[in-house]
Amino acid sequence: MYQFPIQYDEPLFRPPSEGQSIILQITLGCSWNKCSFCEMYTSKQFRIRKEEDIFADINALLPYADQVRKIFLADGDPLVLSTNKLLSILNKLNSSFPRIQRISAYASPTNLLNKTESELAQLKNAGLNLLYIGLESGDNTVLGFINKGADHNQMIEALNKSQKAGLKSSVMIINGVGGRQYSKQHAINSAKLINAIQPKYLSTLVLHPYKGMDYLKSRINVEFEELNKFELIEELKLFIQHLELEETIFRSDHASNHLVLKGVIPRDKTRFLEQIENIITQ
Ligand code: SF4
Repeated sequence: MYQFPIQYDEPLFRPPSEGQSIILQITLGCSWNKCSFCEMYTSKQFRIRKEEDIFADINALLPYADQVRKIFLADGDPLVLSTNKLLSILNKLNSSFPRIQRISAYASPTNLLNKTESELAQLKNAGLNLLYIGLESGDNTVLGFINKGADHNQMIEALNKSQKAGLKSSVMIINGVGGRQYSKQHAINSAKLINAIQPKYLSTLVLHPYKGMDYLKSRINVEFEELNKFELIEELKLFIQHLELEETIFRSDHASNHLVLKGVIPRDKTRFLEQIENIITQ
């Protein structure tokens, strides 16, 4: 029976667009692990893997080196590693896989705040191209009660720094994460955040707590009322209405979304709003 050359420490996550990539775990879990809506790594004790173990995984892939084009660094926030450690891993990847085209990773705004623009540029020059960053909301009240660990202005500072260093961003906003009470300000302030960042990619997904809504409510310190499908779509409409983007690829095609939208904003903004209006008036 065929056995994949790397043994993973599960659970293992990757963005949908990394479905064809080799996943390389350089950390286990997330160093923050405190966002109230997130259960991805709560079963794992965070640790940075030893370089010798990471290199052993890379070496195990050498027989397939010519086929490796994309690598995704996991788990939750590999950029918590020092720049020197990351450069050593990136250099090993480049020397091992001559046909590599893209190296990407999850990152948190805090990871980016903790690195200088020059460090981020060194990572970009060593082959790190794309960061997936869960911003979740641009509203400070919402960011506070979901315990994201960074506020609106810090996120702008973090993302603008990494983009100035040449790293592309794929950012995520969670539809419904403000609940009914904060829905409007979540939509409008999230759009303002995205406008200030101008990311290459933007996606939305719908709040879908793995352990259920009651568990989520027990983890946040505000009255939280879940949005119904109609309200979620109204919130998405308000968010898109307030987006002022130069050229951002937009996707709401995660399994949690009630309405699939794919295109480029500004080109497809009117079409998206018409699609939303059609659902609302049905
Ligand atoms: S930073 Fe990301 S992975 Fe870590 S707890 Fe928050 S949402 Fe989950």
